[in-house]
Amino acid sequence: SVPAAILSALSAAARGGVLFKGGAALETLAAVRTFAFDKTGTLTTGKAEVTGLVCEGSEEAFLARLAGIEAHSEHPIADAVRRAAVARGLTPIAVREARAVPSEGMVGIDDEGMLWAGNARLAARMGARGEAVIPPEIAALSEGAETLVMLGRGARILGAVTVADLPRDSSKAGLVALRQAGVRRIEMLTGDRRAVAVRIGAELGITPDEIHADLRPEDKVKLVAGFATQGRVAFVGDGVNDAAALARADVGIAMGAAGSEVALQAADVALLSDDMNRLAMAHRLSRRTARVIR
Ligand code: ADP
Ligand code: MG
Repeated sequence: SVPAAILSALSAAARGGVLFKGGAALETLAAVRTFAFDKTGTLTTGKAEVTGLVCEGSEEAFLARLAGIEAHSEHPIADAVRRAAVARGLTPIAVREARAVPSEGMVGIDDEGMLWAGNARLAARMGARGEAVIPPEIAALSEGAETLVMLGRGARILGAVTVADLPRDSSKAGLVALRQAGVRRIEMLTGDRRAVAVRIGAELGITPDEIHADLRPEDKVKLVAGFATQGRVAFVGDGVNDAAALARADVGIAMGAAGSEVALQAADVALLSDDMNRLAMAHRLSRRTARVIR
């Protein structure tokens, strides 16, 4: 039977909006040595904004096309693009057979043929790489510490937008509380570019050596497995391109409110309020409970 101390800790956590799938997850959390965090939608709000745009021809036609392909994505970046199109009163153009290339972007078909939207990795995959194909004004746009989303057709790049995302209000305090509770290792794992990750990290007290960028979903899993050789690992994510890492961690912690169904399924713990202070609270509770039952 489950000790009374665990039951009462589980219900105290639940009152604070932290749902554990069982007592084992609570006990494991107490022993976690490394907390690994996804960036987009986890440490950041996932409420990104389009901050810059460079394209050939009409900006309206370009943005309507980009919004058309992003209409099929659940990524926070796609949401930012769709909102930018709505703000200009644009109707997204029809894109069919759209699918996600995880941690890279989207591919689909519009009235003129194959279309893609995404980062430099996806651009390279489509044959667009180097100065010959990436227009200088787009290269310049990508020098800032913002996420670059290019729209292309094969090796031809039609234009790009930059998208910026802000840290959650609770992220900094939550991380400070975890470190104060004696958590030695905090790591950021992201599919985004390093410059963007370092800028967000600087706002949150995460140092460059704690940042792992340009990762694909399988790279996140490998890193989590690597941390696991040195003690228990918790992975905190929103389920967009990180469900496998959530599942691989000793404790998978899903952002509940913004997070996807997949995240909640792959996780051991759900943070219903998306509040990192609540994560620190749940961690303290797990430590206290572990001391009582030992
Ligand atoms: P994170 O690990 O920070 O949560 P992801 O792995 O979800 O980030 O995404 C990594 C990168 O993949 C993004 O920074 C972006 O460059 C690209 N990307 C992912 N989804 C999309 C999309 N729908 N449209 C454009 N780019 C995308
Ligand atoms: Mg994410």
